[in-house]
Amino acid sequence: MNALNGKRALVTGGSRGIGAAIALALADKGADVAITYERSGDRAAAVARSIEEKGRKGVAIQADGADPKAIESSVRDAVGALGGLDILVNNAGIGRAGSVADISLEDIQALLDVNVRAPLLYAKAVIPHLKEGGRIITIGSSLAERVPFPGMTAYAMTKSALLAFTRGLSRELGPRNITANLVLPGAIDTEMNPADGPMADVVRSMVALGRYGQPEEIAAAVVFLASPAASLVTGAIISVDAGANA
Ligand code: NAP
Repeated sequence: MNALNGKRALVTGGSRGIGAAIALALADKGADVAITYERSGDRAAAVARSIEEKGRKGVAIQADGADPKAIESSVRDAVGALGGLDILVNNAGIGRAGSVADISLEDIQALLDVNVRAPLLYAKAVIPHLKEGGRIITIGSSLAERVPFPGMTAYAMTKSALLAFTRGLSRELGPRNITANLVLPGAIDTEMNPADGPMADVVRSMVALGRYGQPEEIAAAVVFLASPAASLVTGAIISVDAGANA
């Protein structure tokens, strides 16, 4: 069943990794999808083409999430291309490792801009376009709840800010019957965190299922939250993390 027929979604950071899987999964369920990217124009265009091959509208928009003006114009472009918006997926994010003692001011600023300020500004720009039944879904991290690795403190801190963001947003939008939810992925095999990376065996040894997740396993949770089946779910923090925080 195409639960998302007629819906229009904007997915930030949809050129690769988890965001690309989310964009394709939403299109599989019937949604037209605009994606943003920062640098990977060719890959974003390929994702948009794959969406079109599914018979949906697919649009790729260059927009640096660290730039508030780019956020506003990308929402305008998405609304113009799709004729409106029903679903926002705040997925784009960056990782920067470094202990609190060593991390640079530049890395701290980039983490705050892309991982914290951008989801807030995207919501701010999209909310006026959402109607009853609208959805805001944000991608956090299992590190928002526990931080088992040194060197990830600043990143984890940006992701834990999204808990308050999601809970507060659910209260603000509930009266309009718009939901806001947060998905906390564990280690997912992408360029940000490859399953053959230097820490991968340690990560596997620490999670209940003993393996990395695939981007499609995060996309499945997002599709559920976007669908009418999740009509009563809001302000929820949903772990999809192989039991990382079990
Ligand atoms: P990824 O493979 O590195 O992909 C990142 C995506 O975000 C790309 O589409 C990238 O665009 C986009 N992006 C990065 N910086 C941007 C910026 N300044 N402006 C606009 N777009 C930007 O990452 P991923 O693993 O798929 O992660 C997706 C989300 O899941 C992130 O929020 C991440 O924190 C979260 N997460 C990932 C894991 C994991 O293990 N992989 C675990 C927990 C949470 P370009 O291609 O143009 O660079």
